[in-house]
Amino acid sequence: MAKKDSKKIAIIGGGAAGFFSALTLSELDPNAEIHLFEKRNQWLSKVKISGGGRCNVTHQCFDPKILSEKYPRGSKELRAAFHSWQPQDTIDWFAQRKIQLKAEADGRMFPTTDDSQTIIDCFLKEAKKSKIKLKKSHSIESLTLNSDGSFLLKINNEKDTSYHAVCLALGSLKSSPLEHSIRKFGHTIESLAPSLFAFNVNDTRTHNLSGLSVPNAQVWVDSLKQSQTGPLLITHRGMSGPAILKLSAWEARNLQGEKYHFDFSINWLAHISKNLIEDTFVKQRTENGKRTLKNTLLFDLPRRLWESLLEYAKISPDTTWSQLSKKSSDTLIKELTQGVYQAQGKTTNKDEFVTCGGIKRREINFKRMESKFVPNLHFAGECIDLDGITGGFNFQAAWTTGRIAGMAMAE
Ligand SMILES: Cc1cc2nc3c(=O)[nH]c(=O)nc-3n(C[C@H](O)[C@H](O)[C@H](O)COP(=O)(O)OP(=O)(O)OC[C@H]3O[C@@H](n4cnc5c(N)ncnc54)[C@H](O)[C@@H]3O)c2cc1C
Repeated sequence: MAKKDSKKIAIIGGGAAGFFSALTLSELDPNAEIHLFEKRNQWLSKVKISGGGRCNVTHQCFDPKILSEKYPRGSKELRAAFHSWQPQDTIDWFAQRKIQLKAEADGRMFPTTDDSQTIIDCFLKEAKKSKIKLKKSHSIESLTLNSDGSFLLKINNEKDTSYHAVCLALGSLKSSPLEHSIRKFGHTIESLAPSLFAFNVNDTRTHNLSGLSVPNAQVWVDSLKQSQTGPLLITHRGMSGPAILKLSAWEARNLQGEKYHFDFSINWLAHISKNLIEDTFVKQRTENGKRTLKNTLLFDLPRRLWESLLEYAKISPDTTWSQLSKKSSDTLIKELTQGVYQAQGKTTNKDEFVTCGGIKRREINFKRMESKFVPNLHFAGECIDLDGITGGFNFQAAWTTGRIAGMAMAE
């Protein structure tokens, strides 16, 4: 039974957003009776596997505008929300609980222990201290409104129970039993599509290059007229790395429309202009004419990739620069800057992936993370149609939306 005059609140989903909203609520309203439901028999399972087991908690970016640009969906709404809770607040929150975060050169932030269990232990300890009722192996099957405005929850292994307020922090809505309840409340669910995936590519140019990484590649999808630039990693199944993952995030829906089969081109030397490459080729011919192509390493391009591109362009690696014909030179420059590859499917990256799509943002008041249709119904995290690129941005969205939902429920 709830304490007299205390609110009884259900938070559905024991992931990042659910824990953060529950802990915020208990911090601001210690009298609230909080029930945190998780359908699995494990808490925070995605936090556990996140960031390759290290948990990329947030990103070292403290300007809401710049931060919001990392979200293919939800950028505008999150920009305002980051004024309430942003990475510095996340860092301080953990520091107050004796968890230090460190930044890597690219801005990603991890616990100094490099172990996601540190984050899980912190949340479980805080939840126990706050007397949040932790109910794992409890799946919520449906949610309806009582005539007094409270919510009736149908729970898989408990009797149906009523709550004053509910926060849905369900993660991806793919095959969620609550989809029907959400729609019955009048909400729209924007179509779901995977985001942050690698491209499957079966191409002789990259066959034996698995593990090789190029620091500055531009990937261009002609049919979409879209490109992204950054490090590119060749994998045993195709291509991954930030340039590919960013493209998969920004174009998640369009690439789903292409059924993940499309042509794309790669500029392996995105940081160097085509003119400079052409000039360099001319210079090699005049100044190093006797040197063989195989013994020339241009622009820090990995040797194995250079050799592979030579082979594909049907140029013997023993050709000297003075022997290189104009036609072969043009072919090689084209391979370096505009080689066309074919994606034949996708592979979800083992480090990180999210679902794009979910509850329509326009139907949510982001100042309270509350439904615009049903008072006291709140949302947090990935179940909303918002998602970020890799780098700790998805967890930051979970902390921010969870925090705001928790604050609103505490009022
Ligand atoms: C392999 C992997 C690695 C990742 N690494 C990172 C990273 O390092 N940094 C980063 O920023 N992001 C990372 N992400 C993305 C990040 O994990 C998600 O953005 C984040 O977990 C979303 O938090 P959430 O609380 O909204 O959802 P979730 O973490 O998915 O939590 C939702 C919870 O709700 C439960 N649930 C759902 N329906 C019900 C129901 N009906 N009843 C009861 N419980 C229910 C689910 O079981 C789940 O535990 C990674 C994702 C993956 C898959």
